[in-house]
Order: sequence, then C-alpha cells, then structure tokens
Amino acid sequence: MAGARTDRRRKDTFLFTQGQSIFTRTWIPIQDSPAVRVTYDATIRAPKGMTAVMSADRLAPAKDGAFRFEMKLPIPTYLIALACGDLEFRPISGRSGIWAEPSVVDGARREFEDTEAMIEAVEEVFGPYRWGRYDLLVLPPAFPFGGMENPTLTFATPTVLAGDKSLVSLVAHELSHSWSGNLVTNATWSDFWLNEGFTMYLEGRTMEAVYGKDRALMEQQLGRAELEREMKDLDPRDQVLHVDLRGRHPDDGFTTIPYEKAAMFLRRIEELVGREAFDRFLKGYFDAHAFQSITTDDFVGYLKANLLDARPRRGSEARHRYLAFAAGPPGRRAGGPLEGARRRRPSARGVRARHRALQARHEGMGHPAMATFSDESAAHGRCQANGVARRGLRLHQIPQFRDPRRVAPPLDRTPLFRRRRAPRGFSWKSAGGSS
Ligand SMILES: [Zn+2]
Repeated sequence: MAGARTDRRRKDTFLFTQGQSIFTRTWIPIQDSPAVRVTYDATIRAPKGMTAVMSADRLAPAKDGAFRFEMKLPIPTYLIALACGDLEFRPISGRSGIWAEPSVVDGARREFEDTEAMIEAVEEVFGPYRWGRYDLLVLPPAFPFGGMENPTLTFATPTVLAGDKSLVSLVAHELSHSWSGNLVTNATWSDFWLNEGFTMYLEGRTMEAVYGKDRALMEQQLGRAELEREMKDLDPRDQVLHVDLRGRHPDDGFTTIPYEKAAMFLRRIEELVGREAFDRFLKGYFDAHAFQSITTDDFVGYLKANLLDARPRRGSEARHRYLAFAAGPPGRRAGGPLEGARRRRPSARGVRARHRALQARHEGMGHPAMATFSDESAAHGRCQANGVARRGLRLHQIPQFRDPRRVAPPLDRTPLFRRRRAPRGFSWKSAGGSS
C-alpha cells in the first residue's frame, strides 16, 4: 500500500491544524480556554484539486467553488480544526466515512469498517450521538499524534492501518470523545482526566461490545502496564488526577495518569455500585452536562449527589475524593506515591531532557499551522506557503463560564506564542452580537 504512494502524490501539500491544548491561538486570535465554547462558520479557498475539511458540518460550496463549513453546536476552542490536501471520501454508513489521500483511502475504509457498529455500541448505553456525522480523516505520517477527536471529523495517524484491525481501539477512543471531552469538556487543563479517563472507560466498553471481553481486557492490561512503567519516573505531584499546572504548560499534565489511572478509578466505581447503576449514572452525567465545560469539583459533587449518597456503605465521598486526588494507583495507601517511585525531585539533567522533548513536541505540534499561517500570510488572510486561503472565518462566543479563574491568560501574556494581528477578513462575535 505504501508503494502506491507515488512521488507525484508526495509533492502535494497537506495542511492540518492541531488545537489541543492551547494551540488554536496560534492561528485564530481567540480566548483559547476549554472553558470558553464557540460556534463557528468558515469559508475556505483551496488550490484546484485540493479538498478542505473541518470539524464542522459541510455546506454546499460557494459559487466560486470555495468550501463552506458550519459548526452550530458550542465547542471548546481547541476543537476548531482544518485540514486540506488531495483527499478522497469513502462512506462506511449513512453517517460515517473516511477522508484520506487516494493511495490510503480504500485500505483505511476496510480497516475502520466497524466504525458504525462502534457508534451504535456507545449510543446503546450512553445516549445518542449528537454531532450528526462521524467521519475519520487519515493524515500523512507527519501527524504527530495517534488521533485527535475533532468533532464530526476525527484526525487519525496512518500508523494504525495495520491491515488486521489490531489498532482500531484508536477509533473507539476518538469516537468516545464525542461524549466525554467534546460534549462534556474539562473546564481547565488540570481537569484533563475528565476528558481522557471517561474516554478510556468508554473506549473499553466499546471494544468489549464490538470485539468481546477478552480483547477489552487485553487492552486494559496493556494500559495498566504502561501506567506502572511511567509512574516509576513520575514526580508524585503529577501522579494525581487533578494536576497542579500553575506556572506550567498544560501539556506537562498529558501523561498516562489522566488516561489509565482515571479509567481505573471509574472502573473501580463501576465495581462498587454495579455496571447497571454506573451506566445509568454516566448516561445522566452526559445529559446533565451536555455542551458544558466542568471542573473536577463539579464532577465530584455530581457523583456524590447522584450515586454515592444513595449507597453510603459502598464508599464515602472521602474515599472517592481520595481515589481521585491521591498519588499512586487507586487503592494504594493514602497520599503516598507508588512504591518504588522516585521521591526526590528529578535531576537538572532530567529536567533539561524533558524540556527538550517537550520543546520538540511543541515545535512538531505548532509547525503545521504556524508554518502555513505565517505572520504575513495570516495578516492577508491567505496561506502563502501552500496557497490555501482562509477567509471569512467567524466565531461566535457562547456567554458562559465568565468565572475569570477558568479563562486562559490573554494572548500577550502567553509565553509560548507571540500575539498575532488579526488576519483581514477575519471576525469573531460574542453570542450577544457585539464584536
Ligand atoms: Zn483522548
């Protein structure tokens, strides 16, 4: 399959953006916090032969052939996403399909053919899929992530195209974010486990429903092994679910803790109260917080009021607070780090190495959007590097979560990125109508 990717194809440009965690501000001047939700519409002009896709509904093209998009549902800013390339589409079901370059698209369609079954599996237990379409975009190998749950259009690495569906848990994961993450969102990046832990839990349930319990247990074991491996070197302050990110980059909290440890925490609650009760609770949780951004405290309060208070013998609030906030894996003694974990601060050399790794990752992440929307090109609303024009992108801020503690620092106080001038043709409006 790789051999079919000819040099001619290689010459074609591929543009993609990556918003999570705080990178949407690199291409849109916006209050870039997961607590702020927006709707948006966009008109994208691309060179002949290239197709633009976004994390939004696809509208009929404009008279001049420009691609038009609209996201009517309020999403956090990190989920605004754009990609453009030599793309073809293959349907999987009436509401799902694959976008990819021609040499990859048929293989990807076969690999991900169970996507509709996965959507139905989550819907059956946790409530309807509310986003209309669920498509997957398979990116070139330069995409530096496994997947990104951009609404209506998951961005996925081509490295999961194994040919035997052995890595499709990625689809179960990104799809599950349509409930946990995109529908109910972490209000701050310290609450990231609300996005990822619930998604890992849902991913496991989806894999179990579509491929059976053994497969789900195997994936769980692999996750547990990875968690224990990483915890050996992790600073105890980063072994907790609700991490302290004061003075740090949100990506510093992107470890296996908010994924695997948080999923173990949720599976433990399921064990305590029974699957039926926990399913009912989760469905109610998604309904009660749909299209909202919430904090860890919000969740713990909801958990207490809607599940634990009715079952005082099955676990006190204190116990579940401990499970959520203590270092070490769930069930270890109070407060202490995992046995064998390094208790001392990491060495200066270790810190420098980590810093270099993070820097490399940021450069990798920032590169696609920043290289293509350079200062000058952004100022003209046009992407000079590959000729993709970005005009008429409008954002409508949803007036909620005005609590200043939940809102990101202004752009000019964000050390990683310089403030950018608004490109011509770009506007954003609050839901109240004033600009
Ligand atoms: Zn995820």
